[in-house]
Amino acid sequence: MEWRGKPVADRLTEELTNRITALRERGCVPKLMLLRVGERPEDLAYERGIRKRFASAGAEIDATVFPETVSQEELTEAVRSCNDDPSVHGVLLFRPLPGHLNEDGLLNVLKPDKDVDGMTAGNALRVYLGDKSGFAPCTAQAVLEMLDANGCDVCGKHVVVVGRSRVVGKPLAMLLLARHATVTVCHSRTKDLQEICRQADILVACVGKARMIGSAYVKPGMIVLDVGINEDGDGICGDVDTESVAGIVSAVTPVPGGVGSVTTSVLLKHVVEQAERTARP
Ligand code: NAP
Repeated sequence: MEWRGKPVADRLTEELTNRITALRERGCVPKLMLLRVGERPEDLAYERGIRKRFASAGAEIDATVFPETVSQEELTEAVRSCNDDPSVHGVLLFRPLPGHLNEDGLLNVLKPDKDVDGMTAGNALRVYLGDKSGFAPCTAQAVLEMLDANGCDVCGKHVVVVGRSRVVGKPLAMLLLARHATVTVCHSRTKDLQEICRQADILVACVGKARMIGSAYVKPGMIVLDVGINEDGDGICGDVDTESVAGIVSAVTPVPGGVGSVTTSVLLKHVVEQAERTARP
């Protein structure tokens, strides 16, 4: 069975649209500020997706675009002004930044409450502590949304996460632990990776290696979530060799059209949550 992202994203957006209507009636319009440096095609594609999602739900987007030569001070000032602007509920800084800029330095300035992309140390700590006020990185949260929408309770299940990045693998492991899953995190130095993966009830691939996870990594009954987005010459593909696992596992998410499609809805959800926290009653 294929678990597609679109119905999950649509259902989430519909619920958020109702919450945005209620916020607007209270005089609050949820707004996301985009801070973009340059015109990287990946950033532009992501921005188009975000704009479409937010417009469909009635939320606002504002954007400041900087030349590639922007200084650390100018960007820091832009982040500070978002922090101080009560009409801005969330800030998304497109990454990676050009090499002369210090990403962590900027993230240290951004208020965690407005860090709807879940990249500040403040939010990482909240997620680590299981504090529900923390915003997890959107892709990690999107994995949970996919599981929830498909009625899959992770409590007591063995979830193997392949990948330990700051953006996906690590925060996802924390979110799963908070839901009482038994979590194994694997990475490039893991020995017997195939054998460990085969022990999973749920396998999450966030490796960044085109079609790496094939039939030798799975067993019947398993649920496989593919977070990977890779270029393989023929276009976009995931970390999972979907054709080779589809006949074995219970469910697998496609790429494109799987977990990645839910990310912008999660971003919207975070902006709405922050707007609800700050709106006047
Ligand atoms: P990353 O920072 O490159 O991390 C990859 C992780 O996979 C690392 O922990 C690495 O281990 C591990 N790894 C690499 N090769 C491995 C191997 N052969 N066996 C086992 N583990 C291995 O990547 P990322 O940012 O987490 O992204 C992962 C994938 O998700 C990418 O395809 C990316 O495009 C995609 N992604 C999608 C979205 C979205 O849907 N919107 C968002 C973010 C990322 P080490 O730590 O040991 O190096």
